[in-house]
Amino acid sequence: MPAAGHAGSLVEHVAELRRRPGTRRELRRSVLVPGLAVTTASVPEGRLVDLDLELEWIPEGAVATGTLGFAWRGPCRRCLSDVEGVASVELREIFETRPTEGETWLLGVDELDLEPMVRETVLVNLPLAPLCDDACQGPAPEDFPAVPARDEPAEAAPARDPRWAALDDLDLG
Ligand SMILES: [Zn+2]
Repeated sequence: MPAAGHAGSLVEHVAELRRRPGTRRELRRSVLVPGLAVTTASVPEGRLVDLDLELEWIPEGAVATGTLGFAWRGPCRRCLSDVEGVASVELREIFETRPTEGETWLLGVDELDLEPMVRETVLVNLPLAPLCDDACQGPAPEDFPAVPARDEPAEAAPARDPRWAALDDLDLG
């Protein structure tokens, strides 16, 4: 039994299920799956993925049905401000000892590793174009600075090193 605060495992022992086709097992747990990120959004570090699944044994293998819930964060596609959201994804996935690439998942002899399925399901459901608000008008310097305002020193800038003048003439393109 995991200690309090410890994320649950994604590896399910299925030896008993195998012997009794038709049996079902509820699978409710929250797991830590590091590195869930696409270029537009990610699951914040340390946040857990919530599994609410039912595992059913069928002659061909096992079927996992239910939902995955997770939090995500990413920049608004228009104003770049930080956007956070939650997603709930319905799924029905099949696990087989000889999986079909891109269609079903690998079922081990005694263990069923849910991680590849959970990882891919989250990745393909992360938002590709987060939006802070349907009414977002995009970069508006006063309200949504696309680049954080710089803290300019109040006092006069120190005298410029004359050698820099030479750099001004170079095309650093
Ligand atoms: Zn926005």
